[in-house]
Amino acid sequence: MLSLENISVGYDATDVLHGVSITAQPGELTVILGANGSGKTTLFKTISGLLRTRSGTIEYNGHPIQRTRPNTIVKRGIAHCPEGRHLFGKMSVEKNLRLGTYPHRDRTRTEEILNEVLELFPILKEKSAQPAGSLSGGQQQMVAIGRALMSDPSLLILDEPSMGLAPLVVEQVLESIAQINRNGIGVLLSEQNAKASLAIAHRGYVLAEGRVVLADDAEKLLDNPQVQAAYLGL
Ligand code: ATP
Repeated sequence: MLSLENISVGYDATDVLHGVSITAQPGELTVILGANGSGKTTLFKTISGLLRTRSGTIEYNGHPIQRTRPNTIVKRGIAHCPEGRHLFGKMSVEKNLRLGTYPHRDRTRTEEILNEVLELFPILKEKSAQPAGSLSGGQQQMVAIGRALMSDPSLLILDEPSMGLAPLVVEQVLESIAQINRNGIGVLLSEQNAKASLAIAHRGYVLAEGRVVLADDAEKLLDNPQVQAAYLGL
């Protein structure tokens, strides 16, 4: 289980997250909703060790990780797929995927995971030798997700994976994420598509100005009038 207790995080003199507490149960899909600038990216960077907490604790499977280095956090089982994909456009799809392999991972297991990723995204198998930059936006997002999966995580953090994609492609990407979760991997997801992401999630949190303002089962959030007004246009 991932558990954040009362964490505060900031840049320079100002805090961006103010006493945030969040849990993600093993194997569950947890969604974080929030307007631009509410602190979702800051939250994810803090979990994966790229930013330091100013106060509060973060535990993963019972071990404190708020002072742990990013590469050790990957080793503990948390993979972070950042906003904006960050692929190497001239490198092949397969090479981009292999970059996500944790360096000391067993070789047979690496090949096994690569096959699992290509099974999950068959189009990437077809295009494995092509430069990643030649793929469509949705396919590039699949490479970014696949690369994160290559570290064999128990928790996959996805920061706005559907950003900039056409509605039909958004649906496909979210369906792949639901499939990853059904395969037993916990997912922590931030999304602008509140309805579609809550529909595949177990639990959700709403962040506003760096604070958790709502936390509930995903189904209940879908019915919540505040969520409906702010995110579902109802
Ligand atoms: P978005 O959907 O736009 O990515 P977000 O919810 O992920 O938004 P963050 O990117 O975490 O939000 O930003 C939260 C706040 O922190 C914003 O006010 C932002 O301007 C500020 N911020 C983000 N990165 C930095 C930085 N490197 N230095 C200073 N302030 C930052």
